[in-house]
Order: sequence, then C-alpha cells, then structure tokens
Amino acid sequence: MELLFFWIGGAVLVAVVASNKGRSGPGWFFLSLLISPLLTLIAVAVMSRVEPIEASKTCPRCAESVKPAAIVCKHCGFEFSGVPQQANYKGVPYMVLSNGQVTMTVEGRTTTWPNLTAFHEHVNRIRKLRV
Ligand SMILES: [Zn+2]
Repeated sequence: MELLFFWIGGAVLVAVVASNKGRSGPGWFFLSLLISPLLTLIAVAVMSRVEPIEASKTCPRCAESVKPAAIVCKHCGFEFSGVPQQANYKGVPYMVLSNGQVTMTVEGRTTTWPNLTAFHEHVNRIRKLRV
C-alpha cells in the first residue's frame, strides 16, 4: 500500500516538473505510472525546457526578440511606433503599421487586415488548406 502511495505521488511530481518544462503534464503522469516514477523523474530532470513557439520581431536597437504587437521593446525601451515593422508569422512575412493594421505583400499584391488577430486567422486558414 505504501509503495502504491509512493508510486502515485512520484508520478504527480513528474507531471509537475514536466509541465514546468513546457511538456505535457498528464502525458508524463501516465508514462510515469506505467514505467517508474523514479526513472521518468530522472528523464524529465535532464530534458531541456521547451519554449513555446511564438511569432516575434527583432528589436533594431538591442536585437532581442519581442512580440509582433509590441509598441515598446521590453528589453531596452525602444519605440516601434511610426516605423512599419517587418515580422514573420509561420513563415509568412508581414508588416505591422503604426495604426495597428497588418499588411502582407505577396507577388506584388498587398493585402491589409484590421489587426494582428485577423491576419493570424487568415494564415492559419491557408495553412490548414495546404496541409
Ligand atoms: Zn530592444
């Protein structure tokens, strides 16, 4: 009975460490129950952190990456407003204008969206059709 308690407790610990590293908590919990909490805990401990993939733009002043919708760089305070910023979402290059509109030019045709969310939805729709 104590072993069972230790087993489940260990699996919960593995799940917590896994999700802290950006991995699937429930997935590692069940894997841990199946194999061994100790073995999977070691596996999770040596694994590198998974950073969520996010669209970003590069700050021209400090070269750090910031969110495409950012107006001020969180690293150095550089203001992006006024200058249209070239950015990239899932391989599709686009520009964020100072009024928040998003434009994309493909083969000489320029398309404009009212905001970044609308543009992301458009790209996701195209990606789904091609896959
Ligand atoms: Zn910066």
